[in-house]
Amino acid sequence: MPQARDGLPEMRHLLRVNLTDGTVETEAVDSTYRDRLVSGKGLGAALLMDETEPGVDPLGPDNALLFMQGPLTGFAPGTSRYAAVTKSPLTGTYVDSYSGGHFPTMLRHALPTYLAIVFEGAAPDPVYLEIDADGSASLEDASDLWGMDTTETACQFEGKQTKTAAIGPAGENQVRFATISSDEGTHHAGRGGTGAVMGSKNLKAVVATGGDVPNPPAIRQLRAEHTKRLGQSDDTDWARNGGTQLVPDWTQEVGALPSHNWTRGQVADIEDVNIDAFEPGHVGTDSCSACPIACGHVTAFAETDLDGAFPEASVAWGPEYETIGMMGANTDITDVTGITELADAADRLGMDTISLGNVLSWTMEMADRGLVDYDIDFGDARAARDLVEMIAHREGIGDALAEGTARAAAELAEGATPAREAAVEVKGLELPAYDPRASQSMGLAYATSDRGACHQRAWPIGTDALGGERDPFGTEGHAEAVIAGQDENALLYSMVACDFTGYNYEYVAEWLDELGYDLDVEDLQTIGERAWNMTRLFNVREGFDRSDDTVPARIQQPIERAGPAEGNALTDEEFEAMLEEYYRRRGWSQEGIPETETLAGLDLDAIVPDGLGA
Ligand code: SF4
Repeated sequence: MPQARDGLPEMRHLLRVNLTDGTVETEAVDSTYRDRLVSGKGLGAALLMDETEPGVDPLGPDNALLFMQGPLTGFAPGTSRYAAVTKSPLTGTYVDSYSGGHFPTMLRHALPTYLAIVFEGAAPDPVYLEIDADGSASLEDASDLWGMDTTETACQFEGKQTKTAAIGPAGENQVRFATISSDEGTHHAGRGGTGAVMGSKNLKAVVATGGDVPNPPAIRQLRAEHTKRLGQSDDTDWARNGGTQLVPDWTQEVGALPSHNWTRGQVADIEDVNIDAFEPGHVGTDSCSACPIACGHVTAFAETDLDGAFPEASVAWGPEYETIGMMGANTDITDVTGITELADAADRLGMDTISLGNVLSWTMEMADRGLVDYDIDFGDARAARDLVEMIAHREGIGDALAEGTARAAAELAEGATPAREAAVEVKGLELPAYDPRASQSMGLAYATSDRGACHQRAWPIGTDALGGERDPFGTEGHAEAVIAGQDENALLYSMVACDFTGYNYEYVAEWLDELGYDLDVEDLQTIGERAWNMTRLFNVREGFDRSDDTVPARIQQPIERAGPAEGNALTDEEFEAMLEEYYRRRGWSQEGIPETETLAGLDLDAIVPDGLGA
């Protein structure tokens, strides 16, 4: 069993917050779970399975929302992270969504022995959870906060030692891709609508004030070594020197930068949206707690191209690559001031810019084709800004668009085939900004991702189209690469660490050893694989199988203007070949269900409910 070293906090508690009756209680986490899953992603799946019934309404009081934290947070640089875990209202799958900043460190310092906060039920009126430095926690009246955006909410509380995670109007209105945003609304648990679940529970914010944690010499020594590594190593060079704003140049070159609602793989002129284009507005960098990488950009433009309509809203944390790709390139809004303005609006209102960008580009295409009665053209930043506000407040057409592209296609265009095919999603989660026709392994990564189409579960484009180790247009070797990426990230997310910091199995083992855990590299590889199987089992419980592991129809059509990927399509035949190999290597049935032998081999049979394995 994980056992903390003398003087260091042993993580074994769970804080149960019943929003219906207003009680807050501490419980012990079952050691069977801690032994096998440790914390974070995998433990979150096991707890969510226990806390909810199959088929639970994601936006009903019986869904649970978990805030998970890991053992490295508050000790190791680059691990100021927490995870929001719940059943997603956008996909109906398990979702774990991670956010950085300083809030996670304050939370760990306030609750050093806690693995999770479990929010259950729904409050009759708006509340926030206040956690003090001594670990005491209480629900407080949030009526005056309701309606505030994420930044305004944070500013009611935040100081050096006090940070918040809050929802904005989009979360309050249960927009299915609403975020939970921390640190003055600059860091986001972005994907899958965790903010909508928080809104459905009338929970506006979590406010944490950090206390002191032990800081023995051995920990200080290891922290110094890793701070030096993060600040100097080749692994993190890209993050220190440009971060994700470097990526538009990379994806443009290989034809993977989505444009014109996923019909093209390059923008007309990359110099409109690359890092050099943002340079005139670059006013500084920002960092999560105690991370020397400081990968975040702060961008401000004195004037926007939006006729001065939103004069105060041209400062944004970022925009990061995904926002540039989905709110910019894919909507044909290739003006950096317009992208910055849209990014800031999304952050303040509390919406995921990947899903929101897809919603905007889908609406533009539908308007262009006369399938939706709304006046918006590709490239129109002003109209897009108005629509963002309408979506967050569910006004007019914004009400249907707040449901995401798959549901909007059904409601606004009555399920017409062109409307359905223009909604580019897997399991309801809209694709991020890497087109699988330029890297076919990304198609497999999206199809098999536990929370719907996601580039953070595996990023195999890094070793094919961008890395040259495999043929991006073939099928060879992709299943193995996707599995390796998923398992390594599942371990990192089980530790609730940042995936930009170069923490590999060896480095994590080194930290866990110092923190008192007896786990070697092989154990950690197993823990990652266990976590991936646990999230799959949650989805199996909810009725997902092979028929849901799909590639969007548009990705099966030839791509235009895509450089080396020009004219490529990911065919059914190619995809099915990769998927079959993936299931075989995973030890899952060809229906996509983990075999009972696989679960026994992973020592998960004591956790998995009867009847879930194949
Ligand atoms: S690399 Fe960037 S996102 Fe990750 S912890 Fe450091 S500053 Fe935060």
